[in-house]
Amino acid sequence: MQKAHGTGVVSFLQAGARGAAAYALCPAALALSACAPAAGSPPAAAPPSSAQAEGAAPPSAAQAAPALLDIATARVVDLTHPITPEMPLYPGNKPYASETLSTVEKDAYYSSRFSMDEHAGTHVDASAHFKAGAPTVEQIAPEQLVGSAAVVDVTAKVAASPDHQVTVDDLRGWEARHGALGARHIVLIRTGWGARWSDPAKYLNQDAQGVMHFPGVSVEASRYLRERGVRCVGIDTLSTDPGPSQSFDQHKAFLGAGGYHIENLANLEQLPEAGAVVVVAPLPLTRGSGAPARVLALVPASGVAGKSARGRAPAAPGARAPAGGERAHGTRPLATRGSRVARGGRR
Ligand SMILES: [Zn+2]
Repeated sequence: MQKAHGTGVVSFLQAGARGAAAYALCPAALALSACAPAAGSPPAAAPPSSAQAEGAAPPSAAQAAPALLDIATARVVDLTHPITPEMPLYPGNKPYASETLSTVEKDAYYSSRFSMDEHAGTHVDASAHFKAGAPTVEQIAPEQLVGSAAVVDVTAKVAASPDHQVTVDDLRGWEARHGALGARHIVLIRTGWGARWSDPAKYLNQDAQGVMHFPGVSVEASRYLRERGVRCVGIDTLSTDPGPSQSFDQHKAFLGAGGYHIENLANLEQLPEAGAVVVVAPLPLTRGSGAPARVLALVPASGVAGKSARGRAPAAPGARAPAGGERAHGTRPLATRGSRVARGGRR
Protein backbone atom coordinates (compact mmCIF):
# COMPACT_ATOMS: atom_id res chain seq x y z
CA MET A 1 0.00 0.00 0.00
CA GLN A 2 1.22 3.44 -0.72
CA LYS A 3 0.60 6.77 0.76
CA ALA A 4 -0.98 9.00 -1.82
CA HIS A 5 0.71 12.34 -2.03
CA GLY A 6 -0.86 14.93 0.16
CA THR A 7 -3.41 12.60 1.65
CA GLY A 8 -3.67 9.80 4.08
CA VAL A 9 -5.34 6.78 2.63
CA VAL A 10 -7.11 4.74 5.19
CA SER A 11 -7.53 1.13 4.30
CA PHE A 12 -10.66 0.17 6.10
CA LEU A 13 -10.98 -3.53 6.34
CA GLN A 14 -14.07 -4.84 7.92
CA ALA A 15 -13.19 -7.66 10.19
CA GLY A 16 -15.67 -10.34 9.45
CA ALA A 17 -17.45 -12.66 11.77
CA ARG A 18 -14.79 -15.32 11.50
CA GLY A 19 -11.72 -13.16 11.20
CA ALA A 20 -12.49 -10.47 13.72
CA ALA A 21 -9.37 -8.42 14.26
CA ALA A 22 -8.71 -5.03 15.67
CA TYR A 23 -7.85 -2.11 13.42
CA ALA A 24 -4.11 -1.91 13.72
CA LEU A 25 -2.04 1.05 12.74
CA CYS A 26 0.38 0.05 10.01
CA PRO A 27 2.87 2.91 10.20
CA ALA A 28 4.53 2.35 6.85
CA ALA A 29 1.28 2.74 5.02
CA LEU A 30 -0.44 5.21 7.30
CA ALA A 31 -3.33 2.88 7.12
CA LEU A 32 -5.81 1.38 9.46
CA SER A 33 -6.30 -2.19 8.55
CA ALA A 34 -6.91 -5.58 9.96
CA CYS A 35 -3.32 -6.59 9.27
CA ALA A 36 -2.91 -7.63 12.89
CA PRO A 37 -4.73 -7.27 16.16
CA ALA A 38 -3.63 -4.16 17.98
CA ALA A 39 -1.48 -4.77 20.99
CA GLY A 40 -3.49 -4.63 24.14
CA SER A 41 -6.80 -4.78 22.38
CA PRO A 42 -9.39 -6.95 24.01
CA PRO A 43 -10.22 -10.31 22.53
CA ALA A 44 -12.81 -10.28 19.81
CA ALA A 45 -16.36 -11.11 20.65
CA ALA A 46 -17.27 -14.75 20.86
CA PRO A 47 -17.61 -16.15 17.37
CA PRO A 48 -21.08 -16.72 16.05
CA SER A 49 -22.36 -20.14 16.75
CA SER A 50 -25.29 -21.67 15.02
CA ALA A 51 -25.55 -19.56 11.89
CA GLN A 52 -21.83 -19.83 11.23
CA ALA A 53 -21.71 -23.53 11.93
CA GLU A 54 -24.34 -24.09 9.31
CA GLY A 55 -22.03 -22.54 6.80
CA ALA A 56 -24.92 -20.57 5.39
CA ALA A 57 -23.46 -17.15 5.97
CA PRO A 58 -22.38 -15.18 2.92
CA PRO A 59 -18.69 -14.25 2.81
CA SER A 60 -17.91 -11.16 4.77
CA ALA A 61 -16.78 -8.03 3.01
CA ALA A 62 -13.48 -8.33 4.85
CA GLN A 63 -12.74 -11.63 3.25
CA ALA A 64 -13.44 -10.27 -0.21
CA ALA A 65 -11.44 -7.08 -0.31
CA PRO A 66 -10.82 -4.07 1.85
CA ALA A 67 -12.76 -0.93 1.12
CA LEU A 68 -10.62 2.15 1.05
CA LEU A 69 -11.59 5.37 2.70
CA ASP A 70 -9.66 8.41 1.58
CA ILE A 71 -9.91 10.83 4.44
CA ALA A 72 -9.03 13.72 2.14
CA THR A 73 -12.26 13.36 0.20
CA ALA A 74 -14.60 11.50 2.53
CA ARG A 75 -17.82 13.19 3.58
CA VAL A 76 -18.47 13.58 7.28
CA VAL A 77 -22.11 13.04 8.21
CA ASP A 78 -23.22 14.11 11.65
CA LEU A 79 -25.61 11.48 12.99
CA THR A 80 -26.32 13.60 16.08
CA HIS A 81 -29.35 15.73 16.86
CA PRO A 82 -28.49 19.09 18.47
CA ILE A 83 -29.38 19.08 22.17
CA THR A 84 -32.18 21.53 22.94
CA PRO A 85 -34.76 22.06 25.72
CA GLU A 86 -37.50 21.32 23.16
CA MET A 87 -36.25 17.97 21.82
CA PRO A 88 -38.43 14.85 22.17
CA LEU A 89 -37.92 12.94 25.43
CA TYR A 90 -38.82 9.51 26.66
CA PRO A 91 -41.77 9.96 29.05
CA GLY A 92 -40.47 10.80 32.52
CA ASN A 93 -37.22 12.46 31.42
CA LYS A 94 -36.54 16.08 32.24
CA PRO A 95 -35.73 18.62 29.54
CA TYR A 96 -32.16 19.71 28.94
CA ALA A 97 -31.34 22.94 30.79
CA SER A 98 -28.40 25.30 30.60
CA GLU A 99 -27.35 28.10 32.92
CA THR A 100 -24.88 30.78 31.95
CA LEU A 101 -22.03 31.05 34.47
CA SER A 102 -19.92 33.71 32.80
CA THR A 103 -19.85 35.84 29.68
CA VAL A 104 -17.07 37.28 27.56
CA GLU A 105 -18.44 40.77 28.16
CA LYS A 106 -18.41 40.51 31.95
CA ASP A 107 -15.85 37.85 32.75
CA ALA A 108 -13.59 37.60 29.71
CA TYR A 109 -14.76 34.06 29.02
CA TYR A 110 -18.04 32.34 28.29
CA SER A 111 -19.11 29.21 30.14
CA SER A 112 -22.29 27.42 31.17
CA ARG A 113 -23.51 24.55 33.28
CA PHE A 114 -25.96 22.06 31.87
CA SER A 115 -28.18 19.28 33.11
CA MET A 116 -29.88 16.51 31.21
CA ASP A 117 -30.84 12.88 31.52
CA GLU A 118 -28.36 10.25 30.41
CA HIS A 119 -30.90 8.88 27.93
CA ALA A 120 -31.88 12.10 26.19
CA GLY A 121 -31.02 13.25 22.70
CA THR A 122 -28.71 11.13 20.58
CA HIS A 123 -27.27 8.83 23.21
CA VAL A 124 -25.72 5.49 24.07
CA ASP A 125 -27.25 2.81 26.30
CA ALA A 126 -24.57 0.81 28.11
CA SER A 127 -25.09 -2.81 29.09
CA ALA A 128 -25.55 -1.69 32.69
CA HIS A 129 -28.78 0.06 31.67
CA PHE A 130 -30.56 -3.30 31.83
CA LYS A 131 -28.15 -5.66 33.55
CA ALA A 132 -26.84 -5.13 37.07
CA GLY A 133 -23.07 -5.34 37.27
CA ALA A 134 -22.59 -5.08 33.49
CA PRO A 135 -20.21 -2.49 31.97
CA THR A 136 -21.21 1.13 32.35
CA VAL A 137 -20.82 3.68 29.58
CA GLU A 138 -17.24 4.74 30.33
CA GLN A 139 -16.23 1.07 30.27
CA ILE A 140 -17.21 0.49 26.64
CA ALA A 141 -13.91 -0.35 24.95
CA PRO A 142 -12.79 2.24 22.37
CA GLU A 143 -12.49 -0.53 19.78
CA GLN A 144 -16.23 -1.08 20.12
CA LEU A 145 -16.98 2.59 19.43
CA VAL A 146 -15.56 2.61 15.90
CA GLY A 147 -16.95 0.35 13.24
CA SER A 148 -18.16 -0.23 9.73
CA ALA A 149 -21.71 1.03 9.20
CA ALA A 150 -24.27 -1.58 8.23
CA VAL A 151 -27.35 0.50 7.43
CA VAL A 152 -30.46 -1.66 7.45
CA ASP A 153 -33.25 0.20 5.69
CA VAL A 154 -36.81 -0.59 6.79
CA THR A 155 -38.43 2.69 5.77
CA ALA A 156 -40.91 1.02 3.42
CA LYS A 157 -42.06 -1.40 6.12
CA VAL A 158 -42.33 1.42 8.66
CA ALA A 159 -44.37 3.49 6.22
CA ALA A 160 -46.81 0.57 6.12
CA SER A 161 -46.71 -0.02 9.90
CA PRO A 162 -45.17 2.30 12.49
CA ASP A 163 -44.95 -0.66 14.88
CA HIS A 164 -42.59 -2.61 12.60
CA GLN A 165 -39.92 -4.53 14.48
CA VAL A 166 -36.75 -5.26 12.54
CA THR A 167 -36.70 -8.96 11.71
CA VAL A 168 -33.93 -11.49 11.18
CA ASP A 169 -34.94 -11.46 7.51
CA ASP A 170 -34.35 -7.70 7.38
CA LEU A 171 -30.78 -8.37 8.59
CA ARG A 172 -30.30 -11.30 6.23
CA GLY A 173 -31.38 -9.09 3.35
CA TRP A 174 -28.52 -6.73 4.16
CA GLU A 175 -26.11 -9.65 4.42
CA ALA A 176 -27.19 -11.01 1.05
CA ARG A 177 -26.22 -7.71 -0.54
CA HIS A 178 -23.12 -6.81 1.46
CA GLY A 179 -21.68 -9.84 3.24
CA ALA A 180 -21.96 -11.28 6.72
CA LEU A 181 -22.38 -9.02 9.70
CA GLY A 182 -19.54 -9.29 12.20
CA ALA A 183 -17.85 -7.95 15.26
CA ARG A 184 -16.62 -4.75 13.66
CA HIS A 185 -19.98 -3.70 12.26
CA ILE A 186 -22.10 -1.02 13.82
CA VAL A 187 -25.64 -1.80 12.70
CA LEU A 188 -27.77 1.28 12.08
CA ILE A 189 -31.51 0.83 11.59
CA ARG A 190 -32.91 3.40 9.17
CA THR A 191 -36.65 3.72 9.70
CA GLY A 192 -37.28 7.23 8.37
CA TRP A 193 -38.54 8.22 11.82
CA GLY A 194 -35.79 10.81 12.26
CA ALA A 195 -37.73 13.17 9.98
CA ARG A 196 -40.21 13.58 12.88
CA TRP A 197 -37.61 14.80 15.37
CA SER A 198 -38.60 18.47 15.21
CA ASP A 199 -42.18 17.57 16.21
CA PRO A 200 -42.09 15.71 19.55
CA ALA A 201 -45.77 14.70 19.36
CA LYS A 202 -45.21 13.06 15.98
CA TYR A 203 -41.97 11.48 17.21
CA LEU A 204 -43.59 9.84 20.26
CA ASN A 205 -46.76 9.13 18.22
CA GLN A 206 -48.96 8.31 21.22
CA ASP A 207 -52.44 6.94 20.65
CA ALA A 208 -55.56 7.89 22.61
CA GLN A 209 -54.47 5.61 25.45
CA GLY A 210 -51.01 7.19 25.57
CA VAL A 211 -49.33 4.15 24.02
CA MET A 212 -46.40 5.17 21.82
CA HIS A 213 -46.09 3.80 18.29
CA PHE A 214 -42.71 3.85 16.60
CA PRO A 215 -40.52 1.12 15.09
CA GLY A 216 -37.90 -0.88 16.95
CA VAL A 217 -35.85 -4.06 16.78
CA SER A 218 -37.26 -7.53 17.50
CA VAL A 219 -35.80 -9.75 20.20
CA GLU A 220 -34.99 -12.39 17.57
CA ALA A 221 -33.05 -9.92 15.45
CA SER A 222 -31.21 -8.68 18.54
CA ARG A 223 -30.14 -12.21 19.42
CA TYR A 224 -29.08 -12.80 15.81
CA LEU A 225 -26.87 -9.71 15.91
CA ARG A 226 -25.15 -10.82 19.09
CA GLU A 227 -24.64 -14.29 17.65
CA ARG A 228 -22.88 -12.58 14.77
CA GLY A 229 -20.66 -10.76 17.26
CA VAL A 230 -22.23 -7.34 16.61
CA ARG A 231 -21.76 -5.08 19.65
CA CYS A 232 -23.78 -2.03 18.66
CA VAL A 233 -27.17 -1.44 17.16
CA GLY A 234 -28.42 2.10 16.63
CA ILE A 235 -31.77 3.47 15.50
CA ASP A 236 -33.38 6.77 14.49
CA THR A 237 -36.23 6.45 17.00
CA LEU A 238 -36.71 7.06 20.72
CA SER A 239 -35.84 3.47 21.61
CA THR A 240 -34.56 0.24 20.10
CA ASP A 241 -37.58 -1.41 21.70
CA PRO A 242 -40.74 -0.74 19.68
CA GLY A 243 -42.88 2.11 20.98
CA PRO A 244 -45.62 0.04 22.68
CA SER A 245 -43.13 -2.02 24.70
CA GLN A 246 -43.36 -1.80 28.47
CA SER A 247 -41.27 -4.89 29.15
CA PHE A 248 -38.19 -3.73 27.20
CA ASP A 249 -37.48 -7.25 26.01
CA GLN A 250 -35.20 -6.05 23.22
CA HIS A 251 -33.11 -4.01 25.68
CA LYS A 252 -32.81 -7.02 27.96
CA ALA A 253 -31.80 -9.27 25.06
CA PHE A 254 -29.17 -7.06 23.47
CA LEU A 255 -27.75 -5.11 26.42
CA GLY A 256 -27.99 -8.17 28.63
CA ALA A 257 -25.82 -10.05 26.12
CA GLY A 258 -23.04 -7.46 26.25
CA GLY A 259 -24.08 -5.09 23.49
CA TYR A 260 -24.77 -1.36 23.55
CA HIS A 261 -27.31 0.84 21.76
CA ILE A 262 -27.46 4.21 20.11
CA GLU A 263 -30.88 5.86 20.10
CA ASN A 264 -32.28 9.00 18.46
CA LEU A 265 -29.82 8.97 15.56
CA ALA A 266 -30.05 11.68 12.90
CA ASN A 267 -29.38 11.85 9.16
CA LEU A 268 -29.26 8.12 8.50
CA GLU A 269 -30.77 8.83 5.07
CA GLN A 270 -27.39 10.31 4.10
CA LEU A 271 -25.50 7.04 4.52
CA PRO A 272 -24.95 4.26 2.00
CA GLU A 273 -26.05 0.82 3.16
CA ALA A 274 -22.39 -0.11 3.53
CA GLY A 275 -19.00 1.48 3.18
CA ALA A 276 -19.09 4.23 5.82
CA VAL A 277 -17.08 4.27 9.03
CA VAL A 278 -18.90 5.25 12.21
CA VAL A 279 -17.35 6.87 15.27
CA VAL A 280 -19.48 6.82 18.44
CA ALA A 281 -18.38 9.20 21.18
CA PRO A 282 -20.50 9.04 24.35
CA LEU A 283 -19.50 11.18 27.31
CA PRO A 284 -17.47 8.84 29.53
CA LEU A 285 -19.65 9.35 32.59
CA THR A 286 -18.36 7.28 35.49
CA ARG A 287 -20.92 4.59 36.37
CA GLY A 288 -23.18 5.99 33.65
CA SER A 289 -26.04 3.78 32.47
CA GLY A 290 -25.67 5.64 29.20
CA ALA A 291 -24.67 9.08 27.98
CA PRO A 292 -25.31 11.68 25.31
CA ALA A 293 -23.05 10.95 22.35
CA ARG A 294 -21.69 12.65 19.29
CA VAL A 295 -21.93 10.15 16.46
CA LEU A 296 -20.14 10.79 13.15
CA ALA A 297 -19.94 8.80 9.93
CA LEU A 298 -17.15 9.01 7.36
CA VAL A 299 -18.50 8.23 3.91
CA PRO A 300 -16.18 7.50 0.99
CA ALA A 301 -16.50 10.25 -1.61
CA SER A 302 -17.18 7.66 -4.26
CA GLY A 303 -20.29 6.71 -2.37
CA VAL A 304 -19.31 3.09 -2.69
CA ALA A 305 -21.43 0.66 -0.84
CA GLY A 306 -21.49 -3.01 -0.37
CA LYS A 307 -20.67 -5.21 -3.33
CA SER A 308 -19.66 -2.33 -5.51
CA ALA A 309 -17.05 -1.35 -2.93
CA ARG A 310 -15.24 -4.62 -3.15
CA GLY A 311 -12.02 -4.40 -4.99
CA ARG A 312 -12.68 -0.87 -6.10
CA ALA A 313 -9.64 1.37 -6.31
CA PRO A 314 -9.43 4.23 -3.86
CA ALA A 315 -10.50 7.64 -5.01
CA ALA A 316 -7.75 9.42 -6.85
CA PRO A 317 -5.74 11.90 -4.81
CA GLY A 318 -7.42 15.26 -5.07
CA ALA A 319 -10.72 13.75 -6.09
CA ARG A 320 -13.57 15.87 -4.89
CA ALA A 321 -16.52 14.94 -2.79
CA PRO A 322 -19.96 15.10 -4.38
CA ALA A 323 -20.88 18.70 -4.80
CA GLY A 324 -23.95 20.80 -4.36
CA GLY A 325 -27.17 19.01 -3.76
CA GLU A 326 -25.57 15.83 -2.53
CA ARG A 327 -24.09 17.68 0.36
CA ALA A 328 -27.18 17.68 2.42
CA HIS A 329 -27.86 19.01 5.85
CA GLY A 330 -25.32 17.98 8.45
CA THR A 331 -22.75 16.92 5.90
CA ARG A 332 -19.38 18.29 4.97
CA PRO A 333 -16.56 16.90 2.92
CA LEU A 334 -13.26 16.49 4.64
CA ALA A 335 -10.71 18.88 3.25
CA THR A 336 -7.03 18.19 2.83
CA ARG A 337 -4.74 16.78 5.43
CA GLY A 338 -4.19 19.09 8.32
CA SER A 339 -7.49 20.86 8.01
CA ARG A 340 -10.18 20.38 10.56
CA VAL A 341 -13.17 18.18 10.18
CA ALA A 342 -16.00 20.47 9.33
CA ARG A 343 -18.89 20.62 11.73
CA GLY A 344 -22.40 19.56 11.02
CA GLY A 345 -24.35 22.20 9.22
CA ARG A 346 -27.21 22.87 11.56
CA ARG A 347 -25.78 24.82 14.40
ZN1 LIG B 1 -31.35 4.97 26.19
